[in-house]
Amino acid sequence: MLLLASLALFLAGSYSHAKNAATGFAIAKNDPVKLRNFLLRMPKGGDLHNHLTGTIYAESYLGWAAEDGKCWDVSARSIVSGPCSADAISFADVYPGGRLTPRLTIDPIIDSLSTRNFRLRGESGHNQFFATFARFAEATVGRRGEMLAEATHRAGRQNIVYLELMQSTGMLEAALLGKATANLEEELGMRVDHGELDKIVDNVVGELDEWEAKARKVNNCESEQASPGCDVKVRYLAQVLRIWAPEEVYAQTVLAYKLIKADPRIVGLNFVAPEDHPIALRDYSMHMEFIREIGTMFPEQTRGITLHSGELALGLVPPEHLGWHITEAIDVAGARRVGHAVDIAHTPDLYRLLKKMAEEEIMVEINLTSNDVILGIKYPYHPFELYMEYGVPMALSTDDEGVSRIDLTHEYQLATQTFDLNYARLRALSRNALQYNFLPGAALFEDTFAGEMVDPCAGESAADDGVSLDCQVFLDKNEKAALQWDLEKRYAAFEESFK
Ligand SMILES: [Zn+2]
Repeated sequence: MLLLASLALFLAGSYSHAKNAATGFAIAKNDPVKLRNFLLRMPKGGDLHNHLTGTIYAESYLGWAAEDGKCWDVSARSIVSGPCSADAISFADVYPGGRLTPRLTIDPIIDSLSTRNFRLRGESGHNQFFATFARFAEATVGRRGEMLAEATHRAGRQNIVYLELMQSTGMLEAALLGKATANLEEELGMRVDHGELDKIVDNVVGELDEWEAKARKVNNCESEQASPGCDVKVRYLAQVLRIWAPEEVYAQTVLAYKLIKADPRIVGLNFVAPEDHPIALRDYSMHMEFIREIGTMFPEQTRGITLHSGELALGLVPPEHLGWHITEAIDVAGARRVGHAVDIAHTPDLYRLLKKMAEEEIMVEINLTSNDVILGIKYPYHPFELYMEYGVPMALSTDDEGVSRIDLTHEYQLATQTFDLNYARLRALSRNALQYNFLPGAALFEDTFAGEMVDPCAGESAADDGVSLDCQVFLDKNEKAALQWDLEKRYAAFEESFK
């Protein structure tokens, strides 16, 4: 009885802290300055849609280009390897400080490597956005460890627990192998050279080891001055470039599945590059079939499928391309999550699809800034509220925070201000980033909005010092749930600060 009474007292205590945080949020909500600060400190489960190269801010690329003797090709507006030709700008001369004035040299370069000020220029957000990747590609060479350090450091500073970073290591080699040797007329399992792909897998695993060791060094993880990024858990998604020939896409897809199987750090796959590209449009159904069919050889790995789908808009492509990519990603490829998914209004059986997504908990990775800049889709044309109305799970993500010059906190702020969200809804969005990530094991919540936990942990609170034995056993067995518990601990501390 005493135990029950103290439990009730305790629950009332943690409930009132949550209520105080909600009140704090309500006060901050109408003041963008206070709101930014509230959301910066608020724990955020993760960023599940985040391309590693697009996460890096241009200034970092310029700094590495300067150290690595690279140059700015003025006419191509691209970073190129040294030595610099007479009409190129040497980064060593201009960055971070140099003989040329930043306003004339660095500012236009940063604009060229991002969507900063794109509305002042004669290029669409779409074209400017996608053009940046080739322009800074040279600066990424040999710098993956530093890139990982930057991504995790920034996440740690925002109280983000987890990142699922998309990256394409090994994909170029797989595509070349596919181009040279693949035969899609062969039997399944015989179409590409699996032995050669396995060698690429080994290389990728070795590279990840190197990136992570370098990132820990850059972030001083073994010292007293450790970056907050050292506490951010990172997993990877293998990204297949969808704008190449079928043989090349096929080989990459097999590699992606093999990578998930080979290394627990690689938890899923995604298809990337502009969905409106002529080849991506032409081959979309074939690609979904590739994912499904190859997946029959990798049944365990199909739980990690997330796909950019429905990142399209009327006017960008003919109407016939709208309203069915999301359906095929889910029904054919077996996607557990979809990224963007903003063309859903064009789906003929819209309500069947919404109900299916809600029932099967197919999560939407919401990228508000990216959708606005690339597609011109924002409130009231963004389907965020429709997904919410139908109970389709969502999480907020950045897509490419460096290219878009944003961060995840910015996206929480944008969502709050655009859709008039309350604290409970924001916390659910944050929890969803762990509930629907691709870490192994069971999830902690029955219901992320209500905060209802699954059976062995039902009724328990992370605000408490202890946890029941059954719940502890469950957490020990399930990596996903354990990380979710960590997020709840952070929420308990955050909410406690409002008492
Ligand atoms: Zn994306």
